[in-house]
Amino acid sequence: MRLGSLRFSSAISILLLSSVSVGCGSSYKTTKVKNYTLSVVNDDPRLKAEFNDLIDDFNRFTASEVLTYVENPEQANSAIILTKGLKQRDGKVGWGQWLSETKSDGPVTTPGNKPKRTISYSMRLEFDLDYYTSRLKNDGEKETIEKQKLFFHEVGHGLEMDHVSSAESNVMYPDISGEKNFELFFEQVRSYMADQ
Ligand SMILES: [Zn+2]
Repeated sequence: MRLGSLRFSSAISILLLSSVSVGCGSSYKTTKVKNYTLSVVNDDPRLKAEFNDLIDDFNRFTASEVLTYVENPEQANSAIILTKGLKQRDGKVGWGQWLSETKSDGPVTTPGNKPKRTISYSMRLEFDLDYYTSRLKNDGEKETIEKQKLFFHEVGHGLEMDHVSSAESNVMYPDISGEKNFELFFEQVRSYMADQ
């Protein structure tokens, strides 16, 4: 299991791709597994319910089951971590990272048979505890959109998306305040999921 910042992970990904094409003169038959089971690593049932709702929102916008909420962290491949004082520590209210684990057959090549390689993806999300607990009771439309923007942005990083600095309305713009174009974002999510 590899853990790294988005930029670091992206660089690794490029290395992986190049090794696929040069490996002993044979290429691997690569399968990408993008199946995200997320669990909230916190005992507060209100927080669990909140993120369960946000996951439902994400799936509804994507019109598919991209994320799966699971109650038990041991049954999840992805974690939602709530950290007290994250904002004071990092100056940020959220972090999102993508992770991947690669399993490959040995380099033995039988003529006509490509060795198999499976890349399993998951993510790690971390949020400022007070940011969400202070917004728990507020389900007004404006507050709901605030909570969605932060969650969707960090899930975007979890789906290998980098920051987009060219348009403030982009969900992946570094600053999540202001109006965002959810439609464009979810179109990008669908095309990422379709890339197998
Ligand atoms: Zn970001």
